[in-house]
Parts: sequence; structure tokens; C-alpha cells
Amino acid sequence: MPELPEVETTCLGLRPRLLDRRLQKLTVRNSRLRWPVPEDLAGRLEGKTLASLSRRGKYLLFDFGGVTQIAHLGMSGSLRFAETGEPAGIHDHIDWIFEGGVILRLRDPRRFGAVLWSANPMHHPLLARLGPEPLTDAFDANYLYAQCRTRSAAIKQVIMDGHVVVGVGNIYASESLFHAGIRPGTSARRLTRPACARLAAAIKRVLAAAIAAGGSSLRDYVQTSGELGYFQLHTQVYDRAGLACKRCNTPIRRIIQGQRASFYCPQCQR
Ligand SMILES: [Zn+2]
Repeated sequence: MPELPEVETTCLGLRPRLLDRRLQKLTVRNSRLRWPVPEDLAGRLEGKTLASLSRRGKYLLFDFGGVTQIAHLGMSGSLRFAETGEPAGIHDHIDWIFEGGVILRLRDPRRFGAVLWSANPMHHPLLARLGPEPLTDAFDANYLYAQCRTRSAAIKQVIMDGHVVVGVGNIYASESLFHAGIRPGTSARRLTRPACARLAAAIKRVLAAAIAAGGSSLRDYVQTSGELGYFQLHTQVYDRAGLACKRCNTPIRRIIQGQRASFYCPQCQR
């Protein structure tokens, strides 16, 4: 599933080729995504020039000046550049044809992604109540501690709640908790301020490292295949059940929390 680092990498990869280009034509082959693609999307965007491209949580915001396209990659979506005349596959649902022959193509086999528009995206229902960005100063030890004080849920579920902080997916939550030395099932309310400080710092470090890894692979993606893909992570605990902890050799444990797998080291995370 595309997580925040993949979406950030996609944003960085698309920006240089799309900024300041006029959208000539929008082709929707299949509008049945998570929500139907609005019938008037092409009419809203065609002929307009992309003024900026940014990310909020896992949403990509294409600002065409007065109207913003909101895109989410869902479970399996990806955006890549297609060659002129390149036939669309069965899962290639949308093409954005920009001037100069630049074709952006959405592929989404499971169709949990979304492409919508808004005149005021920050007040759109999907975005209005999102928590702070994890890599900004708004997300720090004091903020996280204040959030945890009022919540009895497991800390892993709290940091994965987009109203608390955006973009901490399952992999990054497990990895951050390992680096902070906190068990995923710990009640958020029981975390001390120093523990919250360690966790906030770990989340920033883990996400920044993933974005850096994506950035370093980005040039290859764009140059060799035109594709903006996902990248392999060198995880400490995620998907390593039964394997030795890289720090202490204790076997990594796997538990289920909220129907999602969690991984932790019983020695390093107490
Ligand atoms: Zn360990």
C-alpha cells in the first residue's frame, strides 16, 4: 500500500515534469474508484495550467488555480508517465494529457484510490480534520503527549489515527515503536512525556529515512521505466516474525491489533 513516503516521492517525481503545464485533455476510462470520479472533472480542469503540486497526508493536491484536484492512491494505485501512443492496460483508469505530450497515467487494480476536485481543498471533508504532518514542528513531544493523555487505546493505533497525526502507516508505526522502545499494545495514556518524545523523534526519523530512500531511487524509476514505484524498506521488526532482532537476537513477535499485524521485539520494547 502506498504510504506517506511513497506519496511524497511521487509528488517530488511528478512536479518537475508537470508544473506550469496546461492540461489539454483528461480521459477517464473507468470512473468507479473508491468514490465515483466526478463527471465534471474534465470540464473543471481541461485548459487550465498546473500551478502547484503538493501533499497533505496521503492526498496529492494538484492546484490548477481556483480548482484543486485531490488524488489518493488507495491500496494499490500508482501514477506514472506514459509514452505517446502507449496502449492503456485494463487497470489504467485515468490519463491526464498535458501540453508537450506529457501523459500522466493512473493505474489502480483494486480501485480503492480516489480522484476528486475541490475549490477549497483544506476544507474538503477528507482533509479538514486531518492531524498535523509528522515532519513539521506542529508534531512534537508535547503535542503527542497531550494526545496520548486523553486516549486509552493502544499507542500503535493512536499514532496510526489520521486525526492525531497523518501518514503513519502500519509499517512505519511498527518501526517507530521499535526505535522508541515502546510495545505496540501499550495504552497511550500510560506513556510518559520522555517516551512520547522518543516516539515523536522516531516517527520523524523513520519517515525521513524512507523518503530519502525513495528519493534516491526516484531517478532510476523515472529514467528507466517512467514509473514511480514503491521501494523496499530495510525494516527492524516489520514482517520479521520469528527472525532474530537485529539489535539483541531475541525472536521478533507478531500480534494482531485492530485487524492489522504488529511486530515487536519483547526485549527491546518494554
Ligand atoms: Zn531486540
